[in-house]
Amino acid sequence: MRILVVDRSRVFRALWSRMVGTAGHEASMAGTGAEGLARLDIFRAELACVSLSLPDMDGLEFCRAARKKRYGRGLPLILLTSNPDMRIRERAFAAGATDVHDRTNIGELFQQAERYAQPLENLHSGRILFVEDSPTAARYLRRALEPMGIDIVHYASASDALAAFDPSQFDLVLSDILVEGELSGMGLVGCIRQQCPDMTEMPIVAMSGLDDQHQRAELFRLGVNDFITKPFQGDELRTRLCNLLNNKRLMEEVRLQRQKHYEMAMVDPLTGLSNRNALTEFASRFFDEPCSREQPLALILMDLDHFKDINDRHGHLVGDKVLAAIGELLRAVAAPGEVPVRFGGEELLILMPGNDLFDAHTRAEDLRQRIQDLRPAGLPLTASFGVTSREPGSDVEINDLFRAADEAVYNAKAQGRNCVVSVPTRSQESTEQHFG
Ligand code: GH3
Ligand code: MG
Ligand code: MG
Ligand code: MG
Repeated sequence: MRILVVDRSRVFRALWSRMVGTAGHEASMAGTGAEGLARLDIFRAELACVSLSLPDMDGLEFCRAARKKRYGRGLPLILLTSNPDMRIRERAFAAGATDVHDRTNIGELFQQAERYAQPLENLHSGRILFVEDSPTAARYLRRALEPMGIDIVHYASASDALAAFDPSQFDLVLSDILVEGELSGMGLVGCIRQQCPDMTEMPIVAMSGLDDQHQRAELFRLGVNDFITKPFQGDELRTRLCNLLNNKRLMEEVRLQRQKHYEMAMVDPLTGLSNRNALTEFASRFFDEPCSREQPLALILMDLDHFKDINDRHGHLVGDKVLAAIGELLRAVAAPGEVPVRFGGEELLILMPGNDLFDAHTRAEDLRQRIQDLRPAGLPLTASFGVTSREPGSDVEINDLFRAADEAVYNAKAQGRNCVVSVPTRSQESTEQHFG
């Protein structure tokens, strides 16, 4: 981490320099505010510690000037002072400081300073929908948050904010509860929570000058993640929003990971088709859900002809290319709601809800022709098809369907391959084959 220290005392600077170096960071030291501001860009500081009293300006002026510089906008700025006066803290936050620290306790200060750079670095992309009808409060909040790199979109009316609300455009909603206009802040919270029921996907923070326990309880019931009493303290507000934004980001990562794991478990990487695991899930949907049995369900099972020869003559990699091309074709011909699956090696299938045997036979015949015309990897290729369908209302089970399709494929092979054999499925008591 690159740390800029601005302090008039040479002894203090030497102390910092040593500590920063020992901790494995890079330090740049400035004795005056002007020097510090000039170094901000050149040094590309990731954290700045600035003393309140400087020879040419005070630390507050430094903060204000730093925030106006492109590089200082999202930079954690820590003001150092030995004066414990709370008013200095308030003025420091208003000037854009990230935090205020005791200048004399340098050890602790350094520990804290190191911690600072982390969460703030992650915050540069945060976008907040902010509803506040008081211009003064709005201005104050902007000053407190913008230095963190947060983008604030401000509305004075809750209904305007609601009209502009788009979950993909915002990371958090921060709303005053007492706002003038048709829609109250409370109403806004309710509407947004209805649109985005997941609290980790769209955090909502309510603000109110009225510290009423009942109102707060009601807000939490409505789905706010946090509550801030006005007048707020900049540091607390920043930390609360920071935590919510970081949680949201973590949850997004978790969701993406979960999606990735699901795909890894359910999708065959070579063909991009669903695999056998997914088939088990889909099949249970087509067989177990009460209304699913009211429509026909067809199964086209296919087995590539003499596929072993392709591997033997042209190598396994070419065999893989052929399988990938067939996968692409199946994905292209499957209608929405139909499920193309790589069942195993060179056996593929399509589950087709809503298709009777006649429809499915026609589709299989079309697919047979397409495969014959495809010439994947420049090679002639055909497939043998077994087609079957469950009639609406029948008590046929999934194993019955697969047994019928499998026998039909066997017959298609026996009839010379590159053809379609269709048989209706009848239910049978004993089920020897297992799927999934
Ligand atoms: P048939 O017309 O009777 O179905 O003949 P076939 O050669 O297609 O049938 P067989 O079952 O003898 O051979 C299937 C071949 O498919 C054998 C196996 O190595 C190959 N295979 C299975 N999975 C893959 C794969 O992922 N990639 C490649 N390249 N080949 C595969
Ligand atoms: Mg208000
Ligand atoms: Mg086979
Ligand atoms: Mg085969």
